[in-house]
Amino acid sequence: MKKNMSIHSTKNSAFLINSFRDKNTILALAEKIVIESKKLPHDLYMMEVCGGHTHTLMKYGLTKLLPKNIHCIHGPGCPVCIMPKNRINQAYEIAMQKDVILLTLGDMLKVPGSKGSLQHARSLGAEIGFLYSPLQAIEVAQKNPNKKVVYFAIGFETTTPMTAALLQKAIELKINNLFFHINHVLVPPPLYTILDSKDTKVNSLIAPSHVSVITGSKIYEPIFEKYQIPIVVSGFEPVDMMQSILMLVQQVVNNTPKLEIQYSRVVNTNGNLKAQKLVKTFMETREEFQWRGLGNIPYSALRLKKEFAKYDAEIIFDSILSKENIQDNRACRCGDILRGIAKPLDCKVFGKSCTPQNPLGSCMVSSEGACAAYYKYGYTN
Ligand code: SF4
Ligand code: SF4
Repeated sequence: MKKNMSIHSTKNSAFLINSFRDKNTILALAEKIVIESKKLPHDLYMMEVCGGHTHTLMKYGLTKLLPKNIHCIHGPGCPVCIMPKNRINQAYEIAMQKDVILLTLGDMLKVPGSKGSLQHARSLGAEIGFLYSPLQAIEVAQKNPNKKVVYFAIGFETTTPMTAALLQKAIELKINNLFFHINHVLVPPPLYTILDSKDTKVNSLIAPSHVSVITGSKIYEPIFEKYQIPIVVSGFEPVDMMQSILMLVQQVVNNTPKLEIQYSRVVNTNGNLKAQKLVKTFMETREEFQWRGLGNIPYSALRLKKEFAKYDAEIIFDSILSKENIQDNRACRCGDILRGIAKPLDCKVFGKSCTPQNPLGSCMVSSEGACAAYYKYGYTN
């Protein structure tokens, strides 16, 4: 009986997703966009803030359905891409300590720091683990009481509550060998940097829905008030994205810029207040944080509050952590790509000396990176 139920629900959920990938709906929306775009008073330069959106655009060939006066600009919304070498170096330095197990998520293992990647540290004997969920760190810490287990925490507002929940659990269970190297960053601050830049053409934003599931759409209100540009909080399926693009076009055509939610099936204005409270209990904003390609952006990242200092890996390992900022490989244009002033194909080494197997920059490493998306889906010169 249970088995049947799960088959039934799997079928149901596949059906639900399929309707958001339906070819006819995508083409019908594309046709509407083409018709409406003829009324645009100027070209539309949309920044899809999140790497997940870049992947949807590439995977489903959506950019090829858009008229020439609509341009997609890839944004800084991938936590792996924007991680500066200095932070990777710190993870490397911690991992190389004899009594440490370093844990992290995602593609972090492959990102090159100036000492090498975490994968390289692992080949030298460092104990480094990859987690699917931060809460798995509890089990690792319990099983290894003689080790210092360090969680290298990354991600935007989407994943921060999970790190906060992990710390809460560690405190509850009185686990004293679990430490946190916090690299959580915030979506809005780099958008000011980009929109204030004299080089930028960005005049509209497609904002990631899962960030707003936590924060609500309200995090973009100050941006809208300052720049008065169309902003749509969008889901990640191709139909979501096409609908969001149509909404942006209609806002410009009707001269009614606003902050809209396309993904209203889950996102609202205020977001998940419980998750926000959990984060605020344990973390506070840093005065500064260095972003790869974007430089130092004040109040753009989080750290543990002072009262949780005994869990803070940056304090515990302070004496062995290098602090200087390190420049990227000079051939690499990740910085310009993250600022929205270049595309992967503008980089001379794309697909030549830089490939996913041998990445020179973070945009090729991360599965959400723009260069990786172009490469994976066959967009070449
Ligand atoms: S964490 Fe979410 S918002 Fe950030 S890049 Fe990944 S998918 Fe996009
Ligand atoms: S192709 Fe490689 S080197 Fe060039 S910008 Fe992308 S990641 Fe950097």
